[in-house]
This record gives sequence, C-alpha cells and structure tokens, in this order.
Amino acid sequence: MIEILLLAAAAATVDTTPIECSNCAAWNEPQAPFRLHGDSWYVGTRGLSAVLVATPKGLVLMDGGLPQSAPLIAANIESLGFRLGDVRFLLNSHPHWDHAGGLAALQRLTGAPVVTSAIGAEAMRRGNSPHGDPQAGFGEKANDYPPIAEVETIEDGATVQVGGITFTMHATPGHTPGGTTWTWRSCDGDDCRDLVFADSLTAVSSPDYRFSEHPGQVSQLRTSIARVAALPCDLVVSAHPSAVGLFEKLARREQDPQAMFDPRSCVAYAAGGTSWLDKRLADEAGSGKP
Ligand SMILES: [Zn+2]
Repeated sequence: MIEILLLAAAAATVDTTPIECSNCAAWNEPQAPFRLHGDSWYVGTRGLSAVLVATPKGLVLMDGGLPQSAPLIAANIESLGFRLGDVRFLLNSHPHWDHAGGLAALQRLTGAPVVTSAIGAEAMRRGNSPHGDPQAGFGEKANDYPPIAEVETIEDGATVQVGGITFTMHATPGHTPGGTTWTWRSCDGDDCRDLVFADSLTAVSSPDYRFSEHPGQVSQLRTSIARVAALPCDLVVSAHPSAVGLFEKLARREQDPQAMFDPRSCVAYAAGGTSWLDKRLADEAGSGKP
C-alpha cells in the first residue's frame, strides 16, 4: 500500500512538473470556470483553454494546458460539482507542450483515453512535437512534455459520441502537423448553438525554419484556416483564449447575454490566421531571413 502511494506521488511529481517558458506563468494564471452555453464550460487557465462538456453519460474534456495546468483544470472541474472519474474522453487541439502537456496528468486523474489524429497520437505517445513541426528547431528538450500512455486515433470527419452529443473532429494541420478542431451542438432547452474548440492557426516556428521553403505546410495551413472559417460556429474557443478575445466577450456578457455568440466568430478567427501567415511570408521574402 505504501509502495503504491509512493508510486502515485512519484507519477504526480513527474507529470505535473512545471514547464518553464517566458509566457508560462501568465498562461497558467488561475481562472474561475464559467459556463459557455448549456452544459459546456470553460475550465482552463487564463491563457490556455480547456473546455468541459457534461452529458447524461459522462464528461468530455478538451485540452490539458501545461503539465502545471492540470491541477488547476482538475480543481475547476471539481468546483463545478463534476467528478474527474466521469470524464470519458480527453480531446486535444494540437500535440504541443502548452496544450497536451497536462494530458498525462489528466489521464492519470480521470482514467480517460485521449482521442486525436494519427499524427497527434504518435507525437503524444512520445511526449514531443510531431515530426515536421515548424518549431522542431527549438530542440527535442524544449518540445518535451509528459508522454501519454492511452491515445486512440480518429479520422478526419469522424465523431466521438457521448450521452447524445456528437463531437466531430476536423483535421486542421498547419500550425503543427496533426492538429485538430472539434465541433459539437450545445442545447440549453430549445436554445441550440454550434460550439467550436479551435486549433491554433498561427504560422510560428523556430528561427531556422522558413515557411516559404515549405509550400506543403503553407498550403495545409491555408486549407485548415478555410475549414475553420466554414464551420457552423456560434461560439468559438481557441486553444489560446486571447486569440478570440474570449475574456472580453465574457466581460461584455454581464451587460449583453448574447455577447459570447457571433456566427462570424470563426470567420474572424480564421482571418487572423491568414493575416499572420501573409505577414510572415512577406517578412521572409523581404528580409531573406525568417
Ligand atoms: Zn502550438
């Protein structure tokens, strides 16, 4: 028994050991959970989204933040009165350390498998970025995160069904290979809305990488941006909540109950991805350097 407890403590230490980065402290600021719509809740930190959907047959959790975010996400879920053991599936935006880093700990706490793309699964089982990641040049160590033992794969367009809610996976590679965006329909009585958990759409890389030398990556990113723009979308939560001004919308909701909803919000989010990419390509063409 003591041995088991010691082992559990060791696992907790390893899979929640903080990753250090210049933004990590700000990203990991605690955030009180809040309702997005119906049974869909924001349970992430201030700078890293996590969304919980409650169904009559269990819970679905999207993204795990950093390793050090996992205890905050778990506490948020419990503070809403839900049980970690009722989480049936862990979904993910993309297999980077700031969104998948907390999933090993959350898997330990919930017992739920991660469901993601084949490329995402391969990366998460290793606990590192996918092969061909534009940020790979930061080095193996810098991209490291706790490996995730139980990862199931899902095809583009396929669904996860829990308690009458259908979660559809849309492959959105480009920011990194293997990225995914998830959609579901949330109903609060007769009031039904299309919710989106959107992957990052930013062209970010290590200094050695030039997007202009990787036309395949650029074309994947443009396709993914167009896919996100075309989704049925009343409310979008992006992997980083600031990318859709989520907290500004939340603050406006105090005055206007509809402030979180906007059928053009995915279009606006996608447009941000396009401007970022266009600027990046222009900078590369202009400077001769990334
Ligand atoms: Zn990323």
